Amino acid sequence: MKESSKAELLRQLPAVDELVDRPGVAAQVSEAGHELAVKVARALLDRLRQEIAGASEAVDADVARVEELLADELKAAVNYSLQPMVNATGVVLHTNLGRAPLGEKALKHLVETAGRYSNLEYDLAAGRRGKRDQHTGRLLASVTGAEAAIVVNNNAAAVYLVLNTLAEGGEVVVSRGELIEIGDGFRIPEIMVKSGAILREVGTTNRTRLADYENAVSERTRLVLRVHPSNFRMIGFVERPSLAELVALGAQRTLPVYEDLGSGCLAAAAQKGTFDEPTVEASLRAGVSVVSFSGDKLLGGPQAGILVGKKDLVERIRRNPMFRALRVDKLTVAALEATLLSYQRGAHDEVPALQMLLTPAAEIARRSEVFVARLRHHLGASPAHIEVQEGQSVMGGGSTPEQFLPTHLIAIASPHLGPPQLEARLRQHRPAILARIESDQLLLDLRTVFPDQEETLLRALVVALAP
Ligand SMILES: *Cc1c(COP(=O)(O)O)cnc(C)c1O
Repeated sequence: MKESSKAELLRQLPAVDELVDRPGVAAQVSEAGHELAVKVARALLDRLRQEIAGASEAVDADVARVEELLADELKAAVNYSLQPMVNATGVVLHTNLGRAPLGEKALKHLVETAGRYSNLEYDLAAGRRGKRDQHTGRLLASVTGAEAAIVVNNNAAAVYLVLNTLAEGGEVVVSRGELIEIGDGFRIPEIMVKSGAILREVGTTNRTRLADYENAVSERTRLVLRVHPSNFRMIGFVERPSLAELVALGAQRTLPVYEDLGSGCLAAAAQKGTFDEPTVEASLRAGVSVVSFSGDKLLGGPQAGILVGKKDLVERIRRNPMFRALRVDKLTVAALEATLLSYQRGAHDEVPALQMLLTPAAEIARRSEVFVARLRHHLGASPAHIEVQEGQSVMGGGSTPEQFLPTHLIAIASPHLGPPQLEARLRQHRPAILARIESDQLLLDLRTVFPDQEETLLRALVVALAP
């Protein structure tokens, strides 16, 4: 772009006050308020000036376009960025979509306690300061059978806290096959370095024997670590000692055994479903000293890291000054307490993620058929091809990688809209809808769609499929 045309463009840009007063943005300015509108307009004009100055090609900066940009930015400035969505992917614990959705009971408890003062850290019986641990601790002990329990921000924090408390400056023995990366950069060896513990890896990637652990234990050893390789499976020529063998080794050498279980399936849930996941209770029964797992994976609660195990060790971990930095707030305590209370009462259908996972394929088939009949009715003579086919849902959330759940999928093909275009239209809808594309088909899995979202989904599809 020539310098003379740049100068011309810059001259044409409206002044801040002039732009904010233009009728084209009056509605958005009124909603955002004058002060915010001026701030956003100034930043926008600054950005455009820089863009024009540095441009090698033509820049569209006429007043109508500038107004349009300001209107969009003002709308975004006063609207929520975090918003509810329709998850039609069939991935139940979708980390990018907030993992486990909370149940009605959890939401109610959260609203009731967070909108008022609560006894978060107040002992009502004694009339003095209490501990926030009490609310979830009693339920975790009762539901899992553990001697003691504490809760931190997430399981990554729990892993850090255990390693730092029990093994700082000493060695942690762990199998090479368990040095995993969870995703988003959470790697066992790296968290180990940060915790101040020294990694003592034993065995090989695919085979580690009890003797490998025995040979590695020395006076420098502080902890035996077992990690559930939750997001991948090793098959074939593989071997690792049982938990009971590790526990026996720990007892013989007076070393605690810590297991990072990842997903944290409780036995009650495992009995109801055919989840191929180790349970918290089984680990505790095997004698593991401390077990940690996530609150928002298979448990179906809020983001949290749950630590259960032997009283003396859990208390030591609780006394680590870092516990204060990693503790949960009252929103989490409320949501987790309610979720655990559902387990305590055996009311698993109150936990949405569990309910979704336990819905039989036949039930999803029935819902899908009814939905498709309604959709066809609304679409009238539309040439879109819609059918219900067998498929698989995914547990997700770094749990049970190879375990898929049989489901029924709604496959949609439109003669004038490719699957990526249709997918984009649904994603741009509000509330946004996330679908799956597989073998050149757009697929919807009602397993993860709440029944009260079906109407939204239906209407969005009718609009998206319009020619
Ligand atoms: C998911 C997972 C973590 C991390 O848990 P967050 O709650 O996401 O922090 C750690 N270890 C294992 C084995 C996991 O599966």
